[in-house]
Amino acid sequence: MSRKYLIAGNWKMNMSASESVDLISEINSLVGQQIHTQVCICPPFTSLQKSSSLVEQSEVHLGAQNMSSEPSGAFTGEISAGMLRDLYVTFVILGHSERREYFGESNQSINRKVLAAVENNLKPIYCIGETLEERESDQTLAVIKTQIYEGLANYPLSEVDNLVLAYEPVWAIGTGKTATNEMAQEVHAYVRKLLTDIFGDTAASGVRILYGGSMKPENAKGLLAQPDVDGGLIGGASLNARSFCSIVEAATGD
Ligand code: PEP
Repeated sequence: MSRKYLIAGNWKMNMSASESVDLISEINSLVGQQIHTQVCICPPFTSLQKSSSLVEQSEVHLGAQNMSSEPSGAFTGEISAGMLRDLYVTFVILGHSERREYFGESNQSINRKVLAAVENNLKPIYCIGETLEERESDQTLAVIKTQIYEGLANYPLSEVDNLVLAYEPVWAIGTGKTATNEMAQEVHAYVRKLLTDIFGDTAASGVRILYGGSMKPENAKGLLAQPDVDGGLIGGASLNARSFCSIVEAATGD
């Protein structure tokens, strides 16, 4: 099955609402009308409202970086899936390694968020990946397997079309170290095998698996050429419109 590339920018805790307007305007002018590669930007919550009016006239999609698994109520500081939908958010990054490391998120708590996202018509970008210690002790595939089985427990087959995975080796995030093309393909192929075991061949062959971890214009082409790499989740390089859009162009083949 042919899968459309998805290039998603994770802005993390960067960009005020007014700075976001400038960055989105530049992204819009560079890639806002192209439809070959799907583009998504994930600004901080405080920029979502302004961002949604800016991307409305373009092909750029809006994503959030996290959300609550709860629909509403006494959860101070949290943001629900319904609130995101109200701002025309379509994607939500869940289980990013920084959420796992600094905010105590587990496969189980992330699983509740993944299920809440799809119940509310949001497309989860579920992040998985091993630490350096895990890679060096040959545990990469075992860690990935547990993250997939626990994080996607009870995920409905009818919603597999809306699922996106992001393989992000923790040692490659924000470090300038990138997985080699072969290392990325090995894990991506394994992720697809696990998805096949869970959801069946046809459904699994349609799921996009993004690579994340120091992806930049210089290494994007090689990574995106791998058969099971269907796009990128971009951190640092997504804060510069030209770098981000060069990665989009690498995916599009320009
Ligand atoms: C990320 O945090 O999702 C990420 C991939 O970051 P970077 O591109 O900066 O490594």
